[in-house]
Amino acid sequence: MTIERVIKKAQEINPEIDTTIIKRAYEFAEKAHRGQTRKSGEPYIEHPLHTAFNLIQIRADLSTIIAGILHDVPEDTEYTIKDIKDKFGEDVANLVEGITKLGKIKYRGIERYRENLRKMFIAMVGDIRIVYIKFCDRLHNLRTLDALPENKQQRIAKETIEIYAPIAGLLGIWRIKWQMEDICFKYLHPKEYKQLEYKYEIEKKSERNQFFQRTKNVLEEELKKTNIQYEINARFKHLYSIWLKMQRKDRKFDEIYDVFALRVIVKNIEDCYKILGIIHTIWRPIPNRFKDYIAIPKPNGYRSLHTTIIGVDNKSTEFQIKTEEMHEESLYGLQVHWNYKEEIGDKEKPGWIKEILEIQKENKETKQLVQEITSTIFQNRIFVLSPKGDVIELPERATPIDFAYAIHTDIGNKATQALINEKIAGLDTELKNGDLVEIIIDKNRKGPNSQWLNSAKTKHAKERIKQYSQNKAMDKIKKMFHK
Ligand code: MN
Repeated sequence: MTIERVIKKAQEINPEIDTTIIKRAYEFAEKAHRGQTRKSGEPYIEHPLHTAFNLIQIRADLSTIIAGILHDVPEDTEYTIKDIKDKFGEDVANLVEGITKLGKIKYRGIERYRENLRKMFIAMVGDIRIVYIKFCDRLHNLRTLDALPENKQQRIAKETIEIYAPIAGLLGIWRIKWQMEDICFKYLHPKEYKQLEYKYEIEKKSERNQFFQRTKNVLEEELKKTNIQYEINARFKHLYSIWLKMQRKDRKFDEIYDVFALRVIVKNIEDCYKILGIIHTIWRPIPNRFKDYIAIPKPNGYRSLHTTIIGVDNKSTEFQIKTEEMHEESLYGLQVHWNYKEEIGDKEKPGWIKEILEIQKENKETKQLVQEITSTIFQNRIFVLSPKGDVIELPERATPIDFAYAIHTDIGNKATQALINEKIAGLDTELKNGDLVEIIIDKNRKGPNSQWLNSAKTKHAKERIKQYSQNKAMDKIKKMFHK
């Protein structure tokens, strides 16, 4: 990957994009990472460039692209977030800081790690662009997984398929979800992957192409009589989804494969319904297979008309009919698409997230995640990081006192000051989502200050502080009686 390719791609998508700043970010990152190499032996800068390229492909905004180029600088080089802020402004610096914090989650056993990662992602819902950078970073790491030892490959692939991919789906970034899943599938089930790949890509390819051509010809014959502008594509089915279907329905490849899928893309919604009408007059629709996601979009915002008909050679054939805009949204996610189109404020919590939260009906894992996101947004929980890389969940406006007691009673009792994001702060300072918090203790300290009850927000911390003074009173009474 080269910076020229990155810039060319960025201009392809947005001809007005400021390329000098992209170039400047590259020069800075290249200098910072100079001399470093990836496990594969390539110069390190390849990785941030690929990350930026992936971000451009999902239509990320300029700050996000820049942050993608700079995302590993604070963690791996001598330059700091402050350097980035001075050179590239606060917006970019905040994004890079978010990514750096995500990287601080240390791996200490799968269960704990997964929990931490999930919480951190939830914390990042506030600025979804950080999640996008993390996804694009992970996508490139997956593509270079071969350079890592097998146990690491397995761990990363598992973690991606169990945590990253469902979140990508939840956010409607199908393009990333599919790519992640197919790469992980290859590492997690290599034998099955190879078999499916052979069948789908080689054995059945020409048959599939012929069938597509014949169906297209029949449809075009009718469409020619109208003045509708359209595009007809064969729909690529990704291997992991075929495999999942085979598992779930316990069917053989041929039964699954027998469903052919086509996509018709038109200019406006009216034409979607016209095309649907035409398809239903040519072929007999299968009952209960028609779905109008334009009138009633899916909870994540997905819009399209779906129908399955008995098509050429009596084969069941699936059609998706949508506008260009709907198609783009389904590939890149609603939020990214909007960013690029209308430059809406990124920090507002978009309404569609709330909508997802209300009605999302997916698998159990996703459901649980949705509930957690809901509670973050609506009940105002925050997540902060400990120096050991654990994520601690606290109520909004919690202070280092709550944090200290959440870690350990002794830490709470002996706390004197806090370091918040590496800066000294009082114990009554309000914490924010994603803060990195460390408690400075004084070993000689006797116990908590009763004033702390005013700053503590959690029941747990308050109880411990009260308990301490009660114990102290009890001790006094005991001593009096023993005298
Ligand atoms: Mn990275």
